[in-house]
Amino acid sequence: MKKSIESDIYDLIGVGFGPSNIALAVAIDERSKLQGNLKSLFLDKQSDYSWHGNTLVSQSELQISFLKDLVSLRNPTSPYTFVNYLHTQGRLIDFINLGTFYPCRMEFNDYLRWVAGHFSQSSSYGEEVVSIEPIFKQEKVNELRVVSRDALGNQYEKTARSVVLGSGGTPSIPEEFKGLKDDGRVFHHSQYLQRMLTQPCAKGKSMRIAIVGGGQSAAEAFIDLNDSYPSVQVDMIMRASALKPADSSPFVNEIFSPDFTDVIYNLAPEDREGLVNEYHNTNYSVVDIELIDRIYSIFYRQKVSDLQRHAFHCLTSISSAEATDQGVELSLRNMADGTDSTKQYDLVILATGYKRKHYKKLLAPMAEYLGDFEVGRDYRIKTDERCDAALYMQGFCQSTHGLSDTLLSVLAIRSDEIAESLYTHLIKQQSGEMFSSSILDTVE
Ligand SMILES: Cc1cc2nc3c(=O)[nH]c(=O)nc-3n(C[C@H](O)[C@H](O)[C@H](O)COP(=O)(O)OP(=O)(O)OC[C@H]3O[C@@H](n4cnc5c(N)ncnc54)[C@H](O)[C@@H]3O)c2cc1C
Repeated sequence: MKKSIESDIYDLIGVGFGPSNIALAVAIDERSKLQGNLKSLFLDKQSDYSWHGNTLVSQSELQISFLKDLVSLRNPTSPYTFVNYLHTQGRLIDFINLGTFYPCRMEFNDYLRWVAGHFSQSSSYGEEVVSIEPIFKQEKVNELRVVSRDALGNQYEKTARSVVLGSGGTPSIPEEFKGLKDDGRVFHHSQYLQRMLTQPCAKGKSMRIAIVGGGQSAAEAFIDLNDSYPSVQVDMIMRASALKPADSSPFVNEIFSPDFTDVIYNLAPEDREGLVNEYHNTNYSVVDIELIDRIYSIFYRQKVSDLQRHAFHCLTSISSAEATDQGVELSLRNMADGTDSTKQYDLVILATGYKRKHYKKLLAPMAEYLGDFEVGRDYRIKTDERCDAALYMQGFCQSTHGLSDTLLSVLAIRSDEIAESLYTHLIKQQSGEMFSSSILDTVE
């Protein structure tokens, strides 16, 4: 294992190069023309970029208008709009003929890769950031050490004046399944496509499969298993009493507009949670109504044909999961009548969502300067007076900035709010110093 320490000082290092930080790269690129270049670098642990690549089943669609791409809401004349992407790919007219606001996710993935590709000089793949540490200068934390590793275990240390965390969610594994992490027969939905490739059903062998969860991912996995693997028998297992539709009606959708970020942020902290929870059914444990209709129709046809291929277990909790020679044994409790049963499966797919706490682990060496990780309106973590380096978070601020925070909804606006704050910070920090970038050269 090699350790290399870079001597350059970056104005900004972005952790993760998904939609949040790609949008930031675009916003900085725009500002740089007026405010000067930043020396920035975005690190992503994937060896090659893909947007939730293992979930891109052929039927999956974007759950948000393509007009909420990385830039259009701020600057529809940008070269990085989804419309310009379509134009450069020669598909604009065909897309118009589709008559939809909701492209397939495979296409949106390709759009994100296309935008990211324009920033290859300032991005690096195959590097996982493992910690962010303080660097002292005149008794203050003025810079940050970003420690990363590649797949071979080589370690890299880089120095930055600011860091923007955009590392997304981490698969949430229910307690009952934690002991089965290394059992090849249980996996999280985030690995779906890759893991399905090697299953016996890919060669036509029969399999009993459980999908745990009742949200969009569970529904998408069910449809894909039904359509792509005729030899599988699938049980959907969920605590909810039914698959419930996502509320995407227009008045409710206004909560995803950029202005609503101020509404949430300006509330008293104790009132924010209530308002965020009121709209939980726009995004969490809910399914697109078209998918619900398709799934209902599949079960109805089973009744007509009297061939019971799949089963639907709602109001069902899983009290334990055990690996046996025959399969993965799930102990199920029917929450309606209190009865218990056990079932064996060849495969269990956990469509159990994502946690957003990753930042705490990465920032553990900085903890004493960060208090409760309180975040300002500009997404900058409030640090105490001993810390002058800037840390921003994208995608970890739902409780203060609203439900858009983990989605694509306000990326075009949020990225520029962060870029503006970042320039202000760097100019303030660097005035009177030697600096690596040309920021001050072009600022009045
Ligand atoms: C299956 C799925 C479908 C979705 N569909 C939609 C949708 O249709 N509409 C919508 O608005 N939202 C959707 N979302 C929500 C999703 O969170 C956002 O669309 C978007 O991906 C958020 O972007 P991000 O950059 O913040 O996070 P992510 O897209 O998760 O990107 C984070 C990046 O950081 C990298 N990374 C993580 N940890 C590290 C580390 N330690 N070091 C270096 N790199 C790291 C990852 O490899 C990844 O590339 C979906 C989410 C999922 C899981």
